[in-house]
Parts: sequence; C-alpha cells; structure tokens
Amino acid sequence: MIFKDRVALITGGGRGIGRAIALKLAAKGADIVIADLTPDAAGQTAKEIELLGRRVLALKVDVGCADDTQKMVEDAVDAFGGLHILVNNAGITRDRLLLRMSEEEWDSVLTVNLKGAFNCTRAAVRHMSRERYGRIVNIASIVGLTGNPGQANYSASKAGLIGFTKTVAREFAARGITCNAVAPGFIDTAMTQAMPERARNALTSHIPMARLGTPEDVAEGVAFLASDAASYITGHVLSINGGMFM
Ligand code: NAP
Repeated sequence: MIFKDRVALITGGGRGIGRAIALKLAAKGADIVIADLTPDAAGQTAKEIELLGRRVLALKVDVGCADDTQKMVEDAVDAFGGLHILVNNAGITRDRLLLRMSEEEWDSVLTVNLKGAFNCTRAAVRHMSRERYGRIVNIASIVGLTGNPGQANYSASKAGLIGFTKTVAREFAARGITCNAVAPGFIDTAMTQAMPERARNALTSHIPMARLGTPEDVAEGVAFLASDAASYITGHVLSINGGMFM
C-alpha cells in the first residue's frame, strides 16, 4: 500500500493504458480521480476501483480546455483534500502522411497530447507547490524519440512532451515535485488494435521481446516513478518497449 493517503489523477483513465494505471495505483492504496472526455468507460473503471476499496471520482474533462482542467483540479482537491500524483495520459492519433495531413489533424493532436498536458500540469502544480510535494508522470511515446512515417503530428506532440517534462522537472525540483515521462513502444490497446493485422505483425517482428506490450507493463513503470522510491529521479524518460528502441 505504498500510495496510502495519496490522491492520483489520471487523464484518459477510463480505458487502455490510463485504466491500467488507475487500477494499479488504486491497488497500491491511492484514491483515484479519472478525467475522461466521455463518461461511459470512466464509469466502468470507477466501479472496479470502488471494488478495490478506494475512493474514486470520475470527471468529464476535455484536457485541451484550460477551464475544464482548472475545475478538474479544484474538484479533486475539494473531494479528497489533496492531489499528490498527476498522470498526463490522455492522447489521440490522427495519422496521415505529411503532404496529406490537414491543419485540423495537426491541431487536434497537438491540442490534446501537448497542450492538454500543459493545461493539467499548470493547474496541478499550483496546488502541489503549496504542499511542497508532487509526482507528475507524462505518457510520451517511442515515436517521440524515433519519429514515425504518418505521425508527424503525434510524434511532434510526444517529442514536445519530453521537452516539457524536462522543463517542469527543472522548474519545480526545489519544491519537492518530480516530473518524469514514460515512452511506451507498441502497446495492445484500442489505439493499436485499429491497425491492420499485417502492419501489427510487421511491427512485432521489430520487437526483440516478440510481443506487443500490455497496459500493465506501462502501469508498472508509472507506479514506480510516482512512488517515493523514485524521489531522486526527475526529468527522466523511461522506455517501456520490449527492446524495440534502445
Ligand atoms: P486509448 O485506448 O485510445 O485511450 C485514450 C484515452 O484518452 C481515453 O480514455 C480517452 O477518453 C482519453 N482522451 C482522449 N481525448 C481526450 C480529451 N480531449 N480529454 C480527456 N481525455 C481524452 O489510448 P491508449 O493506447 O490507452 O493511450 C494512452 C496514452 O498512451 C496516450 O497518450 C497515447 O499516446 C500513449 N501511448 C500509447 C501507445 C500504444 O501503443 N497504445 C504507445 C505509446 C504511447 P474517452 O474514452 O472519453 O475518449
């Protein structure tokens, strides 16, 4: 129960990787705030967290909207009396080769994946700074390190998130707040299930461990970075990719 008496907020915590992170932190004692765009999956995950005996709050939030994220942090602190861990996990893809990519496809991905993390972090660190304690974990991606054809918008957002992580780490290190990122490889969620089978098989052949990662593989890394065992680690990018990029 390493997160007993801690409150963790996970954006996009209703499904996929975010759901696994929410369940992992709850299983280790944290009360959980899930912030999702649509309430359906969030409600189901919230029920599972309640069954673990934790308190849970499911909020409808668009991370791209600064007013939503400000209210999200206020609601979390009002409900549970604090906010100790923020996981910026909400993310989308709108893949297309650069020459065909629309301005809307560029803007929507940058707004959710990068501005979303900015909005949530800025709202949360105001509270964390006063408490002189905080753990922020950003969910980046392997393609923020390597690039990927068809993902100019997505890879730019994730590379930007890595730069953002390092700056937040430097600005808030003296206030007891750490900020780290994880860079997952290809993880078995709705995001990658949308790929054609042939493309998935081709990708798997490039993974030394010869399998896609699971959401739980990512949740383990996040739980470590959010814990006091990682209190002297900040500005780090932890690859969780089965050896695909090293
Ligand atoms: P997913 O299954 O598609 O889930 C995405 C989550 O983000 C959903 O809960 C969704 O909420 C939420 N979301 C989307 N837009 C939002 C917004 N504007 N405001 C609030 N919540 C929003 O994706 P995933 O595979 O679990 O990915 C989670 C994170 O890991 C993303 O940042 C992704 O880029 C990153 N990642 C994934 C992989 C992979 O292979 N899957 C690899 C590297 C990195 P709704 O359900 O309400 O739409």
